[in-house]
Amino acid sequence: MSNSDQLNSSAIVGHFINGVDVADDHRTQPVFDPATGAVSRRVAMASTATVSRAIDAAQAAFPAWRNTPPAKRAGVMFRFKQLLEEHQDEIAAAITSEHGKVVDDAKGEFQRGVEVVDYACGIAELLKGEHSRNAGPGIDSWSEFQPLGVVAGITPFNFPAMVPMWMYPMAIACGNTFVLKPSEKDPTAPLLIARLFKQAGLPDGVFNVVNGDKEAVDELLRDKRIQALSFVGSTPIAEHIYTTGTANGKRVQALGGAKNHAVVMPDADLDNVVSALMGAAYGSCGERCMAISVAVCVGDETADAVVSGLKARLHLLKVGPGSDSGNDMGPLITQVHRDKVKGYVDYGVEEGAELVVDGRALVVEGCESGFFLGGCLFDRVTNNMKIYQEEIFGPVLCVVRAESEDQALQLINEHEYGNGACIFTRDGEAARYFSDNVQAGMVGINVPLPVPVAYHSFGGWKRSLFGDLYAYGPDAVRFYTRRKTITQRWPSGGVRESAQFSFPSGS
Ligand code: NAD
Repeated sequence: MSNSDQLNSSAIVGHFINGVDVADDHRTQPVFDPATGAVSRRVAMASTATVSRAIDAAQAAFPAWRNTPPAKRAGVMFRFKQLLEEHQDEIAAAITSEHGKVVDDAKGEFQRGVEVVDYACGIAELLKGEHSRNAGPGIDSWSEFQPLGVVAGITPFNFPAMVPMWMYPMAIACGNTFVLKPSEKDPTAPLLIARLFKQAGLPDGVFNVVNGDKEAVDELLRDKRIQALSFVGSTPIAEHIYTTGTANGKRVQALGGAKNHAVVMPDADLDNVVSALMGAAYGSCGERCMAISVAVCVGDETADAVVSGLKARLHLLKVGPGSDSGNDMGPLITQVHRDKVKGYVDYGVEEGAELVVDGRALVVEGCESGFFLGGCLFDRVTNNMKIYQEEIFGPVLCVVRAESEDQALQLINEHEYGNGACIFTRDGEAARYFSDNVQAGMVGINVPLPVPVAYHSFGGWKRSLFGDLYAYGPDAVRFYTRRKTITQRWPSGGVRESAQFSFPSGS
């Protein structure tokens, strides 16, 4: 029986604690197949006692894992990466069946997660400290980076494999032990992956997964044994996690929502721009924190061309079940979310934006109860509208018309979010001016989804990130370790020294 058969055969998705599957079904919640709207299984909501049991396991595993040589920890990562690649199809299918995204897109997110495991394989090199010989006469000094202890991650529904992998591979490679609380909306992929990690040789208790909701998160926030928390999700929850976690003495990084703008300059290659916007706005049904949800077109001529190009392409957009790789776009995650996104479209019409393409009436034959919504396109959106100000997180693109690059920049810089932003142009000077002055953490130049590769780090500015350090890449080593600086001296035998009352200096 394969990993996923075992999961499918159990009606309730449980937890993975201390290397074994654990059932705690005092409370359960349905998990849907978004393409059909049917309940495919139920997920257990961990009680505080179950969360505490996972922390116990992580705490017990920490001393031995912390002292395992980094090169040995890397050996586990190498085997883990290999197993992940062997099981890619199975995990992508699990993502599609619960999230709804098209299976090639699921493979793409999975691959981006595996790249972080790849980076973590180099942990021995990454953890090398800093050394100074003769910091003073006969004195050597060095800094080393020690793991924190038990750390936790809380993740959103939209990347059930990749976003958790932004966190635990680096945390564990650094010598910490981990408790993951994935999204309760698509819980299967993280559990499949946890079993593979054990199969790769990871000692029991080093990586634990608890499914659940606020009850589980509150326990992670409260328990004093959790040293650090990584969170990715919506901004109100990110802010709550940051405020409560730091008040409880934890190190916290909390990545929040987004409203990513693409600026289209009049000199850009508009055919390419339209293709890029189609993928970035409607890929994964717009449920990406790096999705482009606003296109700011500089000049009416540019806007007219972009809108007419998008309109033509939207009529060709293939919407249907994600398991059919011929589709471009799958359903939204739940009916509640689909209705919320639809409500934004209604609101945009009431606010006076021009609805150029209306996807609200879409019905997918054979999947009439699925959570589908067709791609929607608004023109002449202004910055006082709710559809401009708020994150919609669905297949809705707003076109805003601007008169100049400066005006476009001002719009972005005044927005509450600052995750990603990009510019399309052939003018190097305009591009450089944009990247220098835009208030966003990740910037694309003719690149619509500038998601940093695994050896850089991912994070936004303004209310898209609470905390100081980004996810994965070099920042992850800093986030998941504590610096210790050691100053050492070996006095020569027999020399007796007098007491020194002045403050020691290097000279
Ligand atoms: P969400 O904030 O509803 O949930 C995220 C996590 O928090 C889940 O594990 C959930 O169980 C938990 N949670 C929800 N409500 C809680 C509460 N009241 N108390 C404690 N925990 C709670 O987010 P979502 O709907 O799963 O994901 C979509 C959001 O995530 C979007 O806003 C998107 O922009 C954001 N996101 C951001 C990034 C980024 O890198 N900045 C990446 C992916 C997604």
